[in-house]
Amino acid sequence: MSIDRIAVVGGGTMGNGIAHVAAQHGKRVCLIDVSDDVLAGALETIRKNLDRQVKKEIIDQGARDETLGRIETANDLETGAADVDLVVEAVPERPELKYQIFETLDRVTGPDTILASNTSSISITEIAARTKRPELVIGMHFMNPVPVMKLIEVIRGLATSDETTRQTFRLSEELGKTPVEVNDFPGFVSNRVLMPMVNEAVFALMEGVAEAEAIDTVMKLGMNHPMGPLALADLIGLDTCLNILEVLHRELGDDRYRPCPLLRKYVAAGWLGRKSGRGFFTYE
Ligand code: NAD
Repeated sequence: MSIDRIAVVGGGTMGNGIAHVAAQHGKRVCLIDVSDDVLAGALETIRKNLDRQVKKEIIDQGARDETLGRIETANDLETGAADVDLVVEAVPERPELKYQIFETLDRVTGPDTILASNTSSISITEIAARTKRPELVIGMHFMNPVPVMKLIEVIRGLATSDETTRQTFRLSEELGKTPVEVNDFPGFVSNRVLMPMVNEAVFALMEGVAEAEAIDTVMKLGMNHPMGPLALADLIGLDTCLNILEVLHRELGDDRYRPCPLLRKYVAAGWLGRKSGRGFFTYE
């Protein structure tokens, strides 16, 4: 089976990037979000990012127009996902929301449709158990910003079949990405290693070890990281970081994953990072 038609559920930070990359690589995409404003904003973001690619001569004007022509939008799963080969879910990192979406997807998609989740930390095995096709459920963890980052962490749930994994690897390569296979443990590899570092940087800020700028400079210049951990947290979204740390803390039962109280405070204040204009740094 070749994967030609894709539905992306959630048109936020990740969803619009996934839709962009899939359409750019010849897939027909339906981007689904409950909010019309989000869908309009997502199309605008995709347009801007494509224009930037044209300016940088990564693609030409024809490819830009064709990419946009391959993307349609919908407000509900019944309309947008009924007739696709694969769905990538990218709604907020809340288990109950994802479970409910996979139950619906299982009902409204064809029996062979692969159901992938872009979750950063929720168990693929548990998501799959909400469907009658756990062998067709898999994690496809894209990195932010999707059009730029090469990695897709491909997460096998307990019941994910070899064939589903093979198809997902092939699709990832067709999208110009490098897939890496990992098993289903909380946070997988990426966030299991990244989030404790982000959390520790927030503790260092809270305890007055150094200012935000200084913490990030130490990690950039001293450890050769392209971005400091606090700027990276702002890019990911502080609410997303907090959700992931809560999953790690709960599922692994170890206090070393305890979210920093300052991170909680920022999220409570609505300081979510770039998407709200303010996090550890401020944005225009
Ligand atoms: P986001 O908040 O930017 O976007 C989520 C979108 O889902 C919103 O537009 C919202 O309107 C929509 N949505 C909510 N309920 C819906 C429903 N029932 N049906 C359709 N759409 C619905 O979130 P995000 O940062 O794009 O994260 C999405 C997923 O990707 C999360 O699981 C997150 O953990 C994961 N992820 C995020 C990053 C990152 O850097 N932000 C990186 C990798 C993975």
